[in-house]
Amino acid sequence: MSANFAIVGSGPSGMYAAGALLDMVPDCRIDVIDRMPAPFGLIRFGVAPDHYKMKNTARQFARTFELDAVRYLGNVEIGRDLSMIELRQNYDAVVLAIGSYNDANLGIPGEDLAGVYGACEFVGWYNAHPDYRDLDPCLDGPGVAIIGIGNVALDVSRVLVKTRAEMTDSDICAHAMDAIEAAPLKDVHIFGRRGPVEAGFTPKELAEMIDFEQCASIVDAAQLPAAVEGEFEGRIKGVKEKNLAILKEIAGQDMPDKPVRAHVQFYASPVEILGDGKVDAIRLERTEVIDGRAVATGETFDVACSTVITAIGYYSDPPEGVPLDRNVIDNKDGRVEDNVYVVGWSKRGPSGTIPTNGPDSKAVVELLVEDIAEFGKPGGDVIDGLLKERNVRVVNYDDFKTINEAEVANAIDGHHQEKFTRIAEMLAVLD
Ligand SMILES: Cc1cc2nc3c(=O)[nH]c(=O)nc-3n(C[C@H](O)[C@H](O)[C@H](O)COP(=O)(O)OP(=O)(O)OC[C@H]3O[C@@H](n4cnc5c(N)ncnc54)[C@H](O)[C@@H]3O)c2cc1C
Repeated sequence: MSANFAIVGSGPSGMYAAGALLDMVPDCRIDVIDRMPAPFGLIRFGVAPDHYKMKNTARQFARTFELDAVRYLGNVEIGRDLSMIELRQNYDAVVLAIGSYNDANLGIPGEDLAGVYGACEFVGWYNAHPDYRDLDPCLDGPGVAIIGIGNVALDVSRVLVKTRAEMTDSDICAHAMDAIEAAPLKDVHIFGRRGPVEAGFTPKELAEMIDFEQCASIVDAAQLPAAVEGEFEGRIKGVKEKNLAILKEIAGQDMPDKPVRAHVQFYASPVEILGDGKVDAIRLERTEVIDGRAVATGETFDVACSTVITAIGYYSDPPEGVPLDRNVIDNKDGRVEDNVYVVGWSKRGPSGTIPTNGPDSKAVVELLVEDIAEFGKPGGDVIDGLLKERNVRVVNYDDFKTINEAEVANAIDGHHQEKFTRIAEMLAVLD
């Protein structure tokens, strides 16, 4: 009797888990279920459009869907179309790989003003995530403040300051490119509570700030230490040293005469967003870093802006019946409860790159294989029946390939593809 597994979520962690199950359980059958008609999670909806090569990682995962043992059940949401109980009853094990892509709050006054967005919303908007198609972000003033000093903050700032020509090698959606190009943007401010050494940037992404067509990057040399001090593991220290060298290069540049500026400011913690119904400015408090922690100094300053984008962390939003522990699914080394496991960002929280999820998913699958003594639940057939009864339009992998071909055919401006931004548009290609 073959083993039947359900993986909820087709992002990197779910796809690595599928690969590990195929390696470790002979003759198993796997249903990878995702609420989106298009698979691969943040590879499609998170990775910056101008980092298109990074999206090629999806190719290795696409090969998994070509196997007879693996099915893609796209456009199926657990918690809406199927319940966790139904999955647990019908599969030998359920692996949750639902990510943690919901914006954490700043928790400061003014956060509800029009013009304040979380990075998930804003990134989803320019990356064609159907949930954010109608975000229509306010980009009507010269200033944008981005809160956070990690790669997502850099992604957002790059997409805002690059010209249409610089975005040729991308898959940014037309509606976002048009809105950004039309915006009267002059100053993008990236603010971090802590210092350059604590920043979560990676050198490759930071180095892209050195040279933009129409934007000069600005860093205050006075905020940069002479060297990276402190106890860091060798590789991490190397990354921090490279970052510091890049920041020094930016700080040392003669200020290029360009119409847009991207300012990176450390030691600045947002305390209030100001405005009457809509953002006018952000108030920040100077900090100093003591033992790696930002400590407020009491000195505040205001920066005019009409848009605030927060990139400060994310939390998981599991379907009913799955316990949450702060921002992740409650688990012990990936075990959630009997025959339920969790991998990826919904297990560890929102950190790490696509490949980081590989060893993590493999380790959880090893536990799963150790735990499950008997296989024999019915798997997909019962689930197919339930979905049919509920009139759910399941998008399989061949359907997705059809959608993808249409997106490639619709490409404009030399882009790689023009992604559909609404689920109905994707389904219309099939029906
Ligand atoms: C903005 C951004 C840019 C990034 N850029 C890079 C980069 O350039 N390079 C890099 O290596 N890493 C990058 N990362 C990190 C990388 O995206 C993550 O490491 C990785 O996506 C985490 O994988 P995951 O499978 O845990 O979650 P996700 O990729 O978020 O996948 C979760 C999947 O679960 C599905 N899902 C959620 N809830 C349900 C439900 N109830 N029912 C069915 N399906 C559900 C979602 O639709 C989604 O497809 C970036 C992350 C972000 C946020």
